[in-house]
Formats: sequence, C-alpha cells, structure tokens
Amino acid sequence: MSRMQVIRVAIIGAGGGGLCALRHLMGPRSIKELNGDHHVQFEAVCFEQAAKVGGTWAYTDRVGTDEYGNNIHSSMYKHLKTNLPKQCMAFPEFPFPDDIPSYIKHQDVQKYLEDYADSFGILKYIQFHRKVQNIKPVHVAGSLFDLKWEVTTSSVLDSQDRGETESFDAVIVCNGNYAIPSVPTLVGEELFEGHIMHSHNYRKPDSFKDKVVVILGANSSGQDIALELSAVAKKVYISHKKSPLKSRLPDNVEQKPGIERLDAPATVTFSDGTSVHADSLMLCTGYHYDYSFLAPECGVEVDDYRVTPMYKHLINTKYPSLAIVGICKRIVPFPFFDIQIRFFRAILEGSLVLPSEAAMNEDIEQDYLSRLDRGRPHRYSHEMTGCMFEYLNELADMAGTERIPKMYESIYDFAAIQRRTNLMNYKKMNFAPNESGDGYMIL
Ligand code: FAD
Repeated sequence: MSRMQVIRVAIIGAGGGGLCALRHLMGPRSIKELNGDHHVQFEAVCFEQAAKVGGTWAYTDRVGTDEYGNNIHSSMYKHLKTNLPKQCMAFPEFPFPDDIPSYIKHQDVQKYLEDYADSFGILKYIQFHRKVQNIKPVHVAGSLFDLKWEVTTSSVLDSQDRGETESFDAVIVCNGNYAIPSVPTLVGEELFEGHIMHSHNYRKPDSFKDKVVVILGANSSGQDIALELSAVAKKVYISHKKSPLKSRLPDNVEQKPGIERLDAPATVTFSDGTSVHADSLMLCTGYHYDYSFLAPECGVEVDDYRVTPMYKHLINTKYPSLAIVGICKRIVPFPFFDIQIRFFRAILEGSLVLPSEAAMNEDIEQDYLSRLDRGRPHRYSHEMTGCMFEYLNELADMAGTERIPKMYESIYDFAAIQRRTNLMNYKKMNFAPNESGDGYMIL
C-alpha cells in the first residue's frame, strides 16, 4: 500500500536561492517515489519581504531604507555587468537567452530570474511583503526528525502587524549574504572630512567626477567599482592587503597597501607610510551574515564569518531539517544553489540518510582544519576557491542526482584567469559551449 507523506517547508527569501528551492520542491518533479510504495509531497511557502522576486538583482536607485522603512536589500549598482559569464551562472536546466552576450547587465539577470519563476509556475507559492521575524524548533514526536519549526512572519506594509506563526516540517533559509555591510573601524575616521560610503550604497559614478577616491578592498566589488570610477574620477587608489593585482589597470588607478589611519581634513595614510588626499573613501569590505531571525534554540552561530554547525556548509547538524543555502563564497551561485537544494530535498525525501550528528560535526571540523592547514584563515571557512566543483560533485553523488555539466568548470576556470590577468577587458569576451558540451568555444 502506498503512503503519502506531506512535508511542509518554509523558504526564506525569493532571490535565486529561494526560487531554486521552490522549483525543486513545487516544480514539475515535486512528487517523488521512494522505494516504489512511498510518496513524498512537498507543500512549500516562500516568504519574501520585498514586492518581487530577484533578491539582490532587483536593482533600486534607493539607498538606506525603502518606502516602508526597511533596509534596502539590493547591492547592485546601475551599470553593473556580471563578473561571471552567463554560461556558468545559469541553473543547469535553464540557460540564459542566446541573444545576450556572455557578461550581462543586472537587468538581464533579474529578467532571467523572473522568467525562471514564471516558467516553473512557482510564483503562486510566494507571499510577498512578508518578513520572517523568528524561527524556532519545537520537539514533536513522530514528525520529521521529531521536530517542527514555528515560523513567525509579519507584513512589512503594516508596522502594527503583530505577526502570524505557522508550523513547518523543514526550513530553507535563502536570505542572501550581501545586504548587511561589514564596516571596519579605521583609526582617525572621526577626523576625516571626506565622504565615506560602503559599496552597498554605491549606485552610479556621477558624483565622483574629477574626485580622488580611495577604495578599500580589492575583491570583486572593489575591482569592479575601481574600474567604473576610473572613467570619471581624477585618481583612484585601491588599498588592499592581498598580493598585487596582476592585471594591467587604467593609468589613473594605483594600488596601495592597507590603510593605517585617516587624518583631517581628508588624508589617507597607508601601511607603507605614504599618504594621499582623498575626496572619498569607498569601503568595499564585504558583508556580514545575518541570521538574527533564527532563535538561539536553533543552535546556529556566526563567529567571525564562520557559520556553525553546518554539515557540508548547508545542514544544521543539531536539527537537520534546517538548511541554509548559499553560505559559501567564491562560487557560481545559481548552479551551487541547485545542487545544495537537490541534496536537501533528498534528505527530506529520505533517499539520503545523513550520518550521525557526531559524525557530521567531525566532518565539519576536518573541513575547517584542512582549510587552516592550507593557510586559509578562519574567516574564509566557507570560501570555495579551488574546491567548489569537487564539493558540488560530492553532494550530487551523495544525493544520487546529476552533477553540474563539465562545461561549467571549464568556462569558470578560463574566465577566472581572464579576470585575474585582464581586468580591463575580460567582460568583452564571449563564449559558447562546444559541440560535445563539456567545454567552450571563444566567439
Ligand atoms: P539574494 O539575492 O540576496 O536574495 C535573498 C532574498 O531574501 C531577498 O529577496 C530578500 O529580500 C529576502 N529576505 C532576506 N531576509 C528576509 C526575511 N527576514 N524575510 C523575508 N525575506 C527575506 N552572482 C553571479 O552569479 N554573478 C555575478 O556576476 C554576481 N555579481 C554580484 C554583484 C554584486 C554587487 C552582488 C551583491 C552579488 C553578486 N552575485 C553574483 C552574487 C549574488 O548574490 C547571487 O547571484 C545570488 O543572487 C544570491 O541569491 P540569494 O537568493 O542567496 O540571495
């Protein structure tokens, strides 16, 4: 006799991660047979605080707060083009359109996510303008993992809303990592009279015309914004502690070591003792994780950019029906989410049986220690440089699901070299998959 098990899942956020979760739970393959006589049916609800899908790709000119007083989530700037080619950004089953180049505008990505939601018929499962305020586990014997989740949400349209609490069997957190700026404390910042801003609030270059700008941080945003500003600014300094960027840079862009202090009226002194006058200081210093809606009982902790106790950077080992998607950095986000969610779905369906809590915690520890051994500091605990595809293949194999096509890795590796060595021009390149589908051609 077949038995139908209904699993209710709360999804937090309708950016790329949340949409992918909805697609795999509620899209065409939502009902899966297990052992021939056992059916699992998902009932997913996605809570999204904004008015539309897209998450960080839903560009807005606004900075600070929106019309309802909520913090602006998107960190996109007006002229942003992707720093990954569309061929390795796409969800594996849903390519970007052919008639746009490889490096695309943020509007193209937003449209792509809207099309993805439309095409899998998942919009109807999203409750917009609902912000998740609190999530807490409650022990209920006989439930999935003997646990239920109480999820409290409130309307962002009504500041008096006292909130509603619903019960779920599982939770997938997809709230994004690029909304809460990490702002360093700089010696002398109270003396500095120039303009200081974080890249989260950067939208367009106009106000930097003929100015001298110091950019602190040389990761993706720092590099990208430095190039964008160099077209209008008088001089751009990129201050960072990494080894020097290998690419040729525009003539008015110069690299500097880390900032030692700021002084009145507008002086920036670097750790090599040199000083420059700066009209503006742009902090491209990254973002904090924010899981403040997870009650302490959930057991999830963030310690200096490390989230624990997350098996495979994804599953809460204390309560495995809670997953946090997309904790990892330096990834191809959409394909990455795709595998992580198929892995989690296999756990919920029962086709993937997890190791014991102790064994999962041991796995986390080994991963962490091997990173330290390889010289990766604690704060890079979730960085996937050099191990991303190995990780994705491991998850796919464990879940008994298809791996990411080989083509992704080939283009990703090639594009990474281009970005490192040819920062000024790499976004002009165009690719296409080759005939066998495991590599690429340069067009
Ligand atoms: P998000 O897109 O941030 O979506 C999270 C959603 O959760 C949002 O809609 C938010 O409103 C909602 N939410 C948050 N908290 C709550 C709550 N409490 N209740 C209800 N809803 C909530 N990736 C690429 O592949 N290529 C690129 O070129 C690229 N460039 C980037 C450039 C910038 C400047 C930034 C910031 C990111 C870039 N990324 C790029 C990475 C990008 O973050 C991912 O592509 C992806 O969009 C992340 O999706 P997400 O769903 O994890 O998060």
